[in-house]
Amino acid sequence: MRIIHDPAEMSAWSDRQKQSGKSISLVATMGFFHEGHLSLMRMAAECADLMVVSLFVNPAQFGENEDLDSYPRALAEDIEFARRQGAAVVFVPENKVIYPPGFQSTVSVNKLGRGLCAGNRPGHFVGVTTVVMKLFNIVKPERAIFGEKDFQQLAVIRQMVLDLNMETEILAHPIVREVDGLAMSSRNTYLSDKDRHAALSLHKGINMAKSSFNQGEKNTAKIAKRVEEYILSHPDTAIDYISFVHPLTLEPVDRADKTTRLVMAVTIAGKVRLLDNSSLG
Ligand code: AMP
Repeated sequence: MRIIHDPAEMSAWSDRQKQSGKSISLVATMGFFHEGHLSLMRMAAECADLMVVSLFVNPAQFGENEDLDSYPRALAEDIEFARRQGAAVVFVPENKVIYPPGFQSTVSVNKLGRGLCAGNRPGHFVGVTTVVMKLFNIVKPERAIFGEKDFQQLAVIRQMVLDLNMETEILAHPIVREVDGLAMSSRNTYLSDKDRHAALSLHKGINMAKSSFNQGEKNTAKIAKRVEEYILSHPDTAIDYISFVHPLTLEPVDRADKTTRLVMAVTIAGKVRLLDNSSLG
């Protein structure tokens, strides 16, 4: 397995592999791997001849008061994890080569990139799409795997690829959870035992919504109210959003069907912003 820091070297490596008829898959990450990342890697390793794992904590997708500086990092362990999942290359570019002096271009997905997570994080998805486009241009993967845990991110990336005639095929991986149901996240490491109990209310709230739906309740406002009350009954929870949306357009839905996606972001103890989502069926 190679560790490449330089985009030009990464690009040349990809060109050589393609010339010799090899296909490439990409898993784009910010590191601090957990089983969610590793599952994406296993899927990526299966769907192309060679897998590239990129590891870049992208400053452009963090807001001013967010956790960029304290974002958990474990480079040596991550490289070892990627090796064990069969990566051909771990691509670890430095900030200054991704955003050199004079950098000024961005990619913006205008409609899907607004609302939900972008409501409290303006600029977040422009940061995501810009870096993903750069990674695609550098690595030139036939396929890239993204997790459904970041449901809006997945929709935004699919739309960018469609709108801009990009040739990378986007594949989705379902949410990987801890045994107790908490969606795995690098940020879970910030949670104390007490916070973790509150954090579980996201998954339990989703289950509650599903059972309301299965018992015949289709009015999303009513289900949302129950889920909100349940989550807020746990100490130190603040709801960023809880929405029922169409799974592709992410438009709000008043009457649920089984494809309707419940998406939520909840901040625990004023510091750990967690995401979760699920279809109702
Ligand atoms: P991150 O390092 O948080 O940027 O995540 C890198 C990729 O892993 C993204 O496509 C995420 O959606 C995906 N991912 C992170 N956590 C999970 C999870 N628990 N289940 C599935 N995919 C995940």
